[in-house]
Amino acid sequence: MKLKLHYQILIAMIIGAGVGLPLNILADQGDIDVSIPRTLAMYGKGVGDVFLRLLSMIVAPLIVTSLITGVTSTGNAKGLGKLGGRTMIYYMSTSMIAIITGMLVFNLISPGQGANLALLEQGAENLSATPHLVEHTLGQTMWNQLFTLIPGNPFHSLVDPGNRSILGVIFFSILFGVFINASGDDTRKSLTIFFHGAYEVMMKMTMFIIRFAPIGVLGFMLYASAGKGIEVFRALGWYVLTVALALSVHAFITLPLILLFLAKRSPTQYFKAMSPALLTAFSTASSNGTLPLTLTCVEERAGINNRISSFVLPLGATINMDGTALYEAVAVLFIAQVTGHELAFGQQVIVAITALLASIGAAGIPHAGTVMMVVVLSAVGLPISAVGLILAVDRVLDMYRTSINVWSDSTACAVMDRMMGKPTVTP
Ligand code: ASP
Repeated sequence: MKLKLHYQILIAMIIGAGVGLPLNILADQGDIDVSIPRTLAMYGKGVGDVFLRLLSMIVAPLIVTSLITGVTSTGNAKGLGKLGGRTMIYYMSTSMIAIITGMLVFNLISPGQGANLALLEQGAENLSATPHLVEHTLGQTMWNQLFTLIPGNPFHSLVDPGNRSILGVIFFSILFGVFINASGDDTRKSLTIFFHGAYEVMMKMTMFIIRFAPIGVLGFMLYASAGKGIEVFRALGWYVLTVALALSVHAFITLPLILLFLAKRSPTQYFKAMSPALLTAFSTASSNGTLPLTLTCVEERAGINNRISSFVLPLGATINMDGTALYEAVAVLFIAQVTGHELAFGQQVIVAITALLASIGAAGIPHAGTVMMVVVLSAVGLPISAVGLILAVDRVLDMYRTSINVWSDSTACAVMDRMMGKPTVTP
């Protein structure tokens, strides 16, 4: 029987650490030459970088197809109407609340404090997108960001090797989707089918590349443990704790409060009704994969009108990812902290905004959020190679954040069901 991917990743982690750490310790004690762990770390990084480059390769097409599919799934512009507008506002707001929660918890815990993993910065120089932002005022920073949101040439942005202009790709794709919806029936239908197909292909390709994650993790684990020693694990432990705590606040405080006050439903009963979908999301780490079950739970077990769920849920599975948004923000702050980059307030605001955009652009499949990290990191000029460090613990966080993504979509259904004036049976 083939071992499941997350076990493979776990084994890769253990092997990487099991080989790298002792060598690092022996070199520290002077028993072996320091060049041994350093060389190993260098080769590890080489292997890991190939995997990262593969991830980088798929970012732009994945975003384009995912966003256009998400927007076109809302049907023609008129059909979108009130429900569409409200759902979008709800999705953006809860994701932003999740991001702010993540940032607050991060500042409370400071998981990377004291850890100096600056070694991970190597190779970052040429990737730094906008390091000059540090000296800018918030206004200038926001203006710059807004300006880069509009691509000078969308085709050029698509082929940008450092994914620096990916925000422009996001902006253009959303607009493109909106105008597909506004086009005549024939155009709309054929383009919708085309982009839907392309999205499916891109998801398959992503899943294929993700299969190499154990090799990438092994490489980065060797790099981190042989190069930096035990410090890496201490910092990673705190990082996992911070993300998990922040996600829990969002899942067990924020969203239940929304359910209680906006949807007027009992959070515990609704949670019970949704539990099969939430558990499936947890074990599959894919909100797209869970979608059929989410639909069933919402309609059959929570009694929500199909008219609402058939619109809110598919859209949510593509663009509403509270867990992913929160994770993106915390991960980037963590990377900044351990690589010794002080993020000014303006840059933290950029992290929040790009984390939101990245979560919108992320596909509902395992590790998609990690692929999108490139977007947020490059927006504030941080080394994308640092993704390698957090990759090792990504699966477990992915499982948890996917459940939160699905939980938030389900909550949106309850809120819209009530707001659209057709309250149905509780829970
Ligand atoms: N796995 C998540 C989802 O399917 C996306 C992510 O990687 O954050 O919802």
